[in-house]
Amino acid sequence: EAAAKAAALNAGSEAPTIFDKIIAKEIPSSIVYEDEKVLAFRDINPQAPVHVLIIPKFRDGLTTLAKAEARHGDILGHLLCASKIVAEKEGILDGFRVVINNGPGACQSVYHLHLHVLGGRQLKWPPG
Ligand code: ADP
Repeated sequence: EAAAKAAALNAGSEAPTIFDKIIAKEIPSSIVYEDEKVLAFRDINPQAPVHVLIIPKFRDGLTTLAKAEARHGDILGHLLCASKIVAEKEGILDGFRVVINNGPGACQSVYHLHLHVLGGRQLKWPPG
């Protein structure tokens, strides 16, 4: 039932993703922060001591950042504010990075917009 709800919320021209099942709590995740609009959980394949993903609970066409339109302004701002909350909770406010991989050229693998919040070690620049 919860999975059906998430699937319905995120239905559109694009297929559902594994993140729908995480939102519906059909598959387990290690949740760091949650509110009515977003869910933040630990990446299953961490690239740093802290690696948290933040996703909108309602995808609303945002398979990628490239699909962003004016109506998405509120959720995009909310996601960015959530990244600060996550960094604060994780104790990495003095050194963290927020990444959105957009499309195949950036190795995006899950087509439900998500922010990566990375920290807990010295981060190098430029990224790979
Ligand atoms: P990439 O796979 O190249 O990092 P993305 O930016 O699309 O591309 O990131 C998707 C992220 O989702 C990956 O970091 C991956 O480890 C993570 N991931 C996939 N499945 C799960 C899951 N079940 N729980 C937590 N994180 C997941």
